[in-house]
Amino acid sequence: MAKRTHRPLDTDRTGLLGLDELYVLNGRGDRNNFFAWQHEHELNCCPLCGGKAIKIQDHFAKTYLDYIVDSGHPRVIRLTHEFFKYRCLNEKCRHIFSKEIGFASKFDNVTYRLENEIARKVIEGYSYSLVQGLFQDTISRQAVGQIFHRWTQRKESARAIQDPPSSLAILTGHAGENRYTLFLNLDDGIRVFDVLLGVDSADIGSVIQKLVPGVGTVITDCDPTINDAVANYLPSALHIIPVELWLRPATELYQEFAHIKIKWCPVARKDSLIMIPRSRINRDEYDLERLLAARPEVKPAYEDYSRLRGLIERRGELWVYAELKEWADSVCDDTNAFLAPSLYLLKEYRSEIEAQTQHRKAVPARLAEYVSELEDLLSQAKTFSEDILKARVLYAVDTDLQDWRGVPIQNVIQALQDMGLATKRKRREPNEYQ
Ligand SMILES: [Zn+2]
Repeated sequence: MAKRTHRPLDTDRTGLLGLDELYVLNGRGDRNNFFAWQHEHELNCCPLCGGKAIKIQDHFAKTYLDYIVDSGHPRVIRLTHEFFKYRCLNEKCRHIFSKEIGFASKFDNVTYRLENEIARKVIEGYSYSLVQGLFQDTISRQAVGQIFHRWTQRKESARAIQDPPSSLAILTGHAGENRYTLFLNLDDGIRVFDVLLGVDSADIGSVIQKLVPGVGTVITDCDPTINDAVANYLPSALHIIPVELWLRPATELYQEFAHIKIKWCPVARKDSLIMIPRSRINRDEYDLERLLAARPEVKPAYEDYSRLRGLIERRGELWVYAELKEWADSVCDDTNAFLAPSLYLLKEYRSEIEAQTQHRKAVPARLAEYVSELEDLLSQAKTFSEDILKARVLYAVDTDLQDWRGVPIQNVIQALQDMGLATKRKRREPNEYQ
């Protein structure tokens, strides 16, 4: 058993460190170098065999980078943890061990709270090199990347599904150049359940396979990769494609169409103008008239689009696939040519789109709006990778990882809005990280 030696405590720096399990030694180190012991650092038995016969093998020290807040200013310090290594005297055991610690993993050289702070900064849109700068180059850019990767992997492996969703949505999204696949749990509101970088059938299959046979209803957009995966892995689930989700790619195409057709027309905000449904145009009437007068060939296409928006807007009524079909059959040649891929999908997924009429309650209100909002927010950030995508969408909000049911999409949207992803500059915020 160790003899209790007197180690004087530095009250100020122990307070500054603020870790319950540690105290800082007086007379050693400086404001950036802390030497610390655990308050309860002694052990009295072997953790492997439980034997009481143990002896101190050696006195060890390990230095971690740590993160503290000093009079409101966050900064990085070096924290050297001193401890004993013990040896079990049981002949059959001979285990060498030390006391468990709670502030870091023994295998890493940064504390959990520094990892959390680095992860928070990356999630908020800081690039790895920007984080390196924020911490006065005490950590290299590569190390920031590694720490962040480790942080995400730890969350990923802790995530355990006890109760798979019975109602699931699998949707695509765009963030800048990147596409992603979003999985939503629709059992209790709309919860973000998982997210993958890219739209890949094998990856989608591996997520779905963990959930089969729990899934009774699946909602998708018109992406063929996703729909093939649903046909393969969830053949008996009720499959619905809400019309709003068909409208999303159709709208993108139409935007392209509008842009090409009115490129040289001298009217301000013309792209957006032509995308506003007629029912809402009111005060923009004059600009729209000017635009259509300058490009009369756009008028029939504008009418087509406005009629389509009108159909979708009247969702309160029980409208059916037939109305969309009727609209599709009556569009002008230009619209027909430009929207050909979307019109094809409308026919291709007829039964899935019709299913919405009989199962309206299966599709949550505002599903498409929330999904678009999330997509807009994710598109604002300059930094992007699968780790970052997962961290932003799944781990920006604290949730029970052991009983994983996803994060309410409103909370994710709120968290991303609060971050201001688009506003990160290569300039230090005043009073930060001095
Ligand atoms: Zn032992």
